[in-house]
Amino acid sequence: MTLTLVRHADSLVTMDDARREIADGAMAFRDGVIVAVGTSTELAPLADEADEVIEARGCVITPGLVNTHHHLFQTLTRALPGAINVSLFGWLKRLYPIWAQYRPEDVFAATQLGLAELALSGCTMSSDHHYLFPEGVRLDDSIHAAQEMGLRFHATRGSMSVGESKGGLPPDSVVEEEEAILADTIRLIDMFHDPADGAMLRVAVAPCSPFSVSTDLMRQSALLARDKGVMMHTHLAEDADDVAFSLERFGCRPGQYAEDLGWTGPDVWHAHCVQLDAAEIGLFARTRTGVAHCPCSNCRLGSGIAPVRAMLDAGVPVGLGVDGSASNDSGHLLNEARQSMLLQRVHLGADRFDPRESLWLATRGGAQVLGRGDCGFLEPGKRADFAVWDMGDMASAGAWDKVAGLVLAPPLAARDVFVEGRAVVRSGDLVTVKREEVLAAATRSLERLMDAA
Ligand SMILES: [Zn+2]
Repeated sequence: MTLTLVRHADSLVTMDDARREIADGAMAFRDGVIVAVGTSTELAPLADEADEVIEARGCVITPGLVNTHHHLFQTLTRALPGAINVSLFGWLKRLYPIWAQYRPEDVFAATQLGLAELALSGCTMSSDHHYLFPEGVRLDDSIHAAQEMGLRFHATRGSMSVGESKGGLPPDSVVEEEEAILADTIRLIDMFHDPADGAMLRVAVAPCSPFSVSTDLMRQSALLARDKGVMMHTHLAEDADDVAFSLERFGCRPGQYAEDLGWTGPDVWHAHCVQLDAAEIGLFARTRTGVAHCPCSNCRLGSGIAPVRAMLDAGVPVGLGVDGSASNDSGHLLNEARQSMLLQRVHLGADRFDPRESLWLATRGGAQVLGRGDCGFLEPGKRADFAVWDMGDMASAGAWDKVAGLVLAPPLAARDVFVEGRAVVRSGDLVTVKREEVLAAATRSLERLMDAA
């Protein structure tokens, strides 16, 4: 029953319903749960009984950032020659054969590397869309890596079942039988999924995309997810090729395809949605279907500018994702918030997207998309997931409005990051794993993958 008090933050950004920002802010938490939020003066009486007091002068405190879309295994295929200057389909075709060489230890190493990068950039909860299962690789490998790191983790059991010989995009060597996919998904949900408040680990059902699985698997996946009470995730309407494929193959736009197969609702979130039209935005708003907006990835692959302004105005739940590190190629989540603001502004004008809105997407918006009412904002009774940002460091010093400065002049890394009240980052370094070991394991895997290529 240890009590921790964090105090004297220049600003405590709560992201509560009133979006309060508390000057000289303080927060206390016990056993992973926030017990008090207020000014340092209001919480001063707790200092005597606190087991630890953390000083945050010169800092901004925010809820932990939430990453709604990633493929952590891709962290070992960044900046890959041949995949640097191509768009989505060409990029995938270059990468599939290399991903086919992965072994369980590579997935573990890539996952820890990607999560370490996320944690250092203020992330406390990440989803991971894992759809590649060569040579003994199981979702268990990435789950164990995340458990060791101590980040809140939404593992999704991805899948590809339509290979080249059946008109799909991936080579036949990386696709699985649909029966085996569904059986393994059931095994993982039964073994790992925790539906409770404060869950550190959840499992979702996640066929890779409409162009790599059959219509039947999309439908069966939705039925399975609803039967088990878990969420569903896939890629949708990522770029113009994606929409053209849908029209040609299914005779309808991606939104219609999703709706027909049961892939709309508050238990569904789709990555990208760059090419949603007005009717599809209306559909997503009506059904409370979530969107994982990945601005850097969209820029990197030249996919277009997602209509995030229109989505938010219509009431679509939107969160941020760094996407797989092969298509970003960075996984700095705070920078993703900055990019989301820049991308809407280049499209619509400087007055149409405020930095605070990007911060909201990165925290509460993301938690909402992942179905988490217990995270994403700082309020008594919610989980103690938060980041402390030192705004006096090189990249941010000079900011007048320090909350806006988080997005406009983002710190290179968070000073401290806590998940469920436990430190994952302190004074800018990792606590739960050793930085050198994570890097050494990643290097070993990278060298083997390069030799095999
Ligand atoms: Zn993706």
